[in-house]
Amino acid sequence: MRVLMENVVIIGSGCAGWTAALYTARANLRPLVLTGKQPGGLLTTTTVVENYPGFPEGIDGYELMVRLQKQAERFGARAQFGTVEAVDLSRQPFGLTVDGEPLAAEAIIIATGASHRHLGLEGEHKLENKGVTYCATCDGALPLFRNQPLVVVGGGDSACEEALYLTRFGSVVYLVHRRDALRASKIMAQRALSQPKIKPVWDSVVAEILDVKQDKVTGVRLRNVKTNAESVVECAGVFVAIGHVPNTELFKGVLEMDESGYIIPRKGTATNVPGVFVAGDCADRVYRQAVTAAGLGCAAGIEAERYLAARHG
Ligand SMILES: Cc1cc2nc3c(=O)[nH]c(=O)nc-3n(C[C@H](O)[C@H](O)[C@H](O)COP(=O)(O)OP(=O)(O)OC[C@H]3O[C@@H](n4cnc5c(N)ncnc54)[C@H](O)[C@@H]3O)c2cc1C
Repeated sequence: MRVLMENVVIIGSGCAGWTAALYTARANLRPLVLTGKQPGGLLTTTTVVENYPGFPEGIDGYELMVRLQKQAERFGARAQFGTVEAVDLSRQPFGLTVDGEPLAAEAIIIATGASHRHLGLEGEHKLENKGVTYCATCDGALPLFRNQPLVVVGGGDSACEEALYLTRFGSVVYLVHRRDALRASKIMAQRALSQPKIKPVWDSVVAEILDVKQDKVTGVRLRNVKTNAESVVECAGVFVAIGHVPNTELFKGVLEMDESGYIIPRKGTATNVPGVFVAGDCADRVYRQAVTAAGLGCAAGIEAERYLAARHG
């Protein structure tokens, strides 16, 4: 069987992937972008993005991604709807299996992103972007949440950070945690608990997000895990901060990762396999923003180009 051979394959079509495509396309490498199941990545699931530089009035997340794709395609990048099911990074050119079909590439840029953990509640899914969110930095300043009671779910560093950030906007921030002490680092826990606007709710889980019928968040029904007692807390927003899962399963055992599965870049965006680069949220457990993902995509694109130039003398 004849296997198609590519200069650069970019796995993922979010901010990191399309920015890597823009840079490699402008270097005449005709990159192939494999979109995965979510063309345009996570940003397509949000309405207005207010913190991407260059858009003083904000921009719709979907539109931003369409523009990014068009910009890269203008210079020769190509998109293929497909999901990478397996990779062989032990030989050059590298092997990929995309929806059952083989593909070969001299360089690969991994930009597969990270998914947030869900509570798994019906209302959570139905009220996403209607009061349920996974990113305080992204959504906290929206008018919907101003001077309203807000709920943050979680007990780690991210949950504390989200809660602290939200004290700027909400009237009160309930920090709902299933244990009787925060899991966060001491300093973060202290900062959160000494902030008068943050009210911890211990030993509690969210049993229901209200109110699907009204098509907006009006409160949460909490269950105390020790007593089983239930209570309702009124709020306008639920910020779920119970962790992220990087989409890196494919590379386990081959690429260096931390204990949570984030790929560990060496020297910028290189990985432990020469010719394989990484960009965006799948290698960033700290910032996870559109602009940082795009920045890393740019860096990975430049690195891939230099790698190929060196290989071909
Ligand atoms: C609701 C919401 C609102 C947000 N709002 C903002 C905001 O206002 N400002 C901001 O800066 N950030 C915001 N973010 C965060 C921002 O979306 C992410 O930081 C950014 O999308 C990360 O880009 P990425 O390219 O690394 O990954 P992603 O956007 O997650 O893209 C990953 C891509 O990889 C693909 N993929 C995964 N596995 C495979 C595979 N096996 N084969 C092929 N493709 C694969 C997916 O289909 C997808 O295209 C928000 C996030 C959410 C969820």
